Amino acid sequence: MNRKKCRVPKVVCTNCGGCGYWQAHVIYVCWNNRSICDLTRTVTHELVHASQVCFQWRYRDCADALAWELQAYFCSKACNTFHDCYLKAVRSACIFGPGSLCDPNKVAELYERMELWFEVNRGIMCPHPDKPPLVWSPQDRN
Ligand SMILES: [Zn+2]
Repeated sequence: MNRKKCRVPKVVCTNCGGCGYWQAHVIYVCWNNRSICDLTRTVTHELVHASQVCFQWRYRDCADALAWELQAYFCSKACNTFHDCYLKAVRSACIFGPGSLCDPNKVAELYERMELWFEVNRGIMCPHPDKPPLVWSPQDRN
């Protein structure tokens, strides 16, 4: 296997919206929202994003944004079923995602394709020290 060394992100507590975010090798935890956010889940979620970036998974469109968030929520155990994970992913992809890649029509249109991708891959989806994160690839789009 091709092993790639990913930089371990620094964790910084700050005042922010939501529970946390990842940017340029730093995980920001919103300490002001700590009463409504689970610290372990937040850090794990952002670590999944760090590994996605390390393995060159880039946002290009709404499907990328949804798959990216779906994986981070599922792998941080913030949800268990596709439906719950998709709702969380939609919130993040539509509200906090770059620009406005997703609109309601696109989110609805992608539902079945994302569900298929999730159900087929849920057992191998999460990153592991010996395994890069599963990537939503161009062939998943069709
Ligand atoms: Zn996220």
